[in-house]
Amino acid sequence: MVHESIAILGVRISNVDVPASLAIIEGLIESGISHQLVTVNTEFVMAAQKDAEFKAIIHAAALALPDGFGLLLAARFLGHPLKERGTGVDTVQRVAELAARKGYRLFLLGAAEGVADLCAQRLRDNYPNLQIVGTYAGSPVVEEEDRIVALVKQAKPDVLFVAYGAPQQDKWIARNLERLGVPLAMGVGGAFDFIAGVAVRAPRWIQRLGLEWLHRLYHEPWRWRRMLALPRFVGLVMRERLGKIEDHVKY
Ligand code: UDP
Repeated sequence: MVHESIAILGVRISNVDVPASLAIIEGLIESGISHQLVTVNTEFVMAAQKDAEFKAIIHAAALALPDGFGLLLAARFLGHPLKERGTGVDTVQRVAELAARKGYRLFLLGAAEGVADLCAQRLRDNYPNLQIVGTYAGSPVVEEEDRIVALVKQAKPDVLFVAYGAPQQDKWIARNLERLGVPLAMGVGGAFDFIAGVAVRAPRWIQRLGLEWLHRLYHEPWRWRRMLALPRFVGLVMRERLGKIEDHVKY
């Protein structure tokens, strides 16, 4: 599906609002051909600076949704604003709603033992018609791959959500996309944890202030090392903007 994308620090991000992203997602599922969806946040952009494989996966994805307030701020600062945020957890809920309406089949792969099941229950509570044709925790190690792919193929889902954390989940999908034969496979990070209620999402007002990362750090302090990516991201974005101003002065 053709849509506009922007680049932040050389990493591609789809510039679509929620209704447009859902229309694209529906088209991808209906096409019957395998597609990958990624939800990009600042940590992805920083990881992609050093990980060419990850960067290529984001570029090749059918949709690279902006999941992260920091990206919206950076995009505005760099002069090419993004239309709207599309977080992984919200996208999972929206796709579940679409799937219930259209009869699409979902498979939930990943997260800790029992969490995908809990998440499936919550989604079914919200959308009673929803067809969840499989849940499995497993792990992203290569030794388990053939068995998991066989399990998913047997269930014949239209949509596969994979919660193995970035970038493992996105690399797992890219490696197996063709043989899975699933029209839409999406890396969802901690979305199952939030929907199942084993992790607490920040209240709306904190989300609106763009402070979800602070809330997460408070609840999961072990993330501090990963979050060092944030100040580095700000520094690089400043440099990119300065570079643009210099280019403008030169020409
Ligand atoms: N996870 C997993 N197996 C692994 C690594 C991670 O099932 O080997 C799950 C983990 O339980 C969680 C999700 O993947 O549900 C990753 O969540 P996180 O919030 O860390 O996602 P990220 O911030 O990396 O997108």
